[in-house]
Amino acid sequence: MDLEPGSTRMFRCALCGTDAPHRLRARRGTRCAILCTNCGSGSIVGEDDLLLYQVRWEEELRQILEQLAENDDKSDDHRP
Ligand SMILES: [Zn+2]
Repeated sequence: MDLEPGSTRMFRCALCGTDAPHRLRARRGTRCAILCTNCGSGSIVGEDDLLLYQVRWEEELRQILEQLAENDDKSDDHRP
């Protein structure tokens, strides 16, 4: 997974507290300057934090989608 300036990563904004896409503005070593697309606030995070958050967020999203699919199946079974 590349962390190029200009790319977007999901992250929890420290200022507005939402899980929002953050635009990567600059990178110096393992530190990344990101900009919240929700409130426009900038912050500095380690690239490990950014990548770990992305992995967790994708896993959570996958579980939610699987749960929705399961619920759909169940409602189909009970349909008259
Ligand atoms: Zn924000």
